[in-house]
Amino acid sequence: MNNSNALYNSLLKDAVNEKNKLTAKTLNKIIKIYESTADDLLKKASTSRGFTRAWTKDYERYIKYKILELNNELAKVSDSSIRTSAEIAASVQGDFLSYINNKYTLDIDKSMLEFAYTTNEKLIGQIIQGGFYKDNRSLSDRIWSYGNQNGKDIQYILTKGMAEQKSYLEIIKDLEKFLKSNTDPDFKKTYTKLYNRKVDYNAQRLLRTAMNHMFYVQNVSNAKNNPYAEAMHWELSAEHGTRQVDRFGEDECDDYANSDYYNLGQGNFPPDKVPVPHPNCLCIQTIVIPKSLDEIGRELGEWINGKDISYLDEWLKVG
Ligand SMILES: [Zn+2]
Repeated sequence: MNNSNALYNSLLKDAVNEKNKLTAKTLNKIIKIYESTADDLLKKASTSRGFTRAWTKDYERYIKYKILELNNELAKVSDSSIRTSAEIAASVQGDFLSYINNKYTLDIDKSMLEFAYTTNEKLIGQIIQGGFYKDNRSLSDRIWSYGNQNGKDIQYILTKGMAEQKSYLEIIKDLEKFLKSNTDPDFKKTYTKLYNRKVDYNAQRLLRTAMNHMFYVQNVSNAKNNPYAEAMHWELSAEHGTRQVDRFGEDECDDYANSDYYNLGQGNFPPDKVPVPHPNCLCIQTIVIPKSLDEIGRELGEWINGKDISYLDEWLKVG
């Protein structure tokens, strides 16, 4: 492996780590948002002196309002974390070029360097608006349907409790179990419909997946635009053996990493043919750069000094 590969892919791996940290932080935020919604719902319920019809009507409105608030907050968090995920991926290309610029004192125009850091707005839109997915559903649409389901589940607990003439304290306890930790075996018997449906589970999974997809599509977009990238390489995650192969056998990732479908070398794909990673896949799509840093630096230098190199015009087109 030559030094340009090593540089690019070590920048890429740093970016993956950064994206993973951002994901952990984002999931934490989601948990907090759900917790505060749950606290408010329980607080309001505990001010009741008993569940009268009038009270439950009022509470129903309150649930709607809290779910609306929850959905809005989740949508905000997901938009910003997806944008940041794209920025982290785009920074790999920017840092790569900056490194070469410094190493060979090329004096590349600042606007060009900035351009190398820009995200692909179209792809961000496709992830957020849903065009990337077969069903075309936007993230906010998915978030709304989870929120509505949460609201229905809460309603179901109230209605069922009242039909069974439970005391309002018992009902609140059930509500608390559902909203806080939904693993009590008695709760399981009573509410089979709800069991194990952690209230924040779907939103967490949705965001984790979307952030991974965003990083992936931006990373592929960088490679597609980069004239020095000959291919992308499917690198199995370090935990692939213990998490996957030892427990469940090989999966499609082993196939990607071990095949040479395009005669570009084992595990290599043209950038526009790299498969989309399955959910929870931790493999990395690195890029293959045949030219060394010296060669790339020399070429960029000649281009800056006026030599006509059309693929560099293409790559660093500004404006
Ligand atoms: Zn994988």
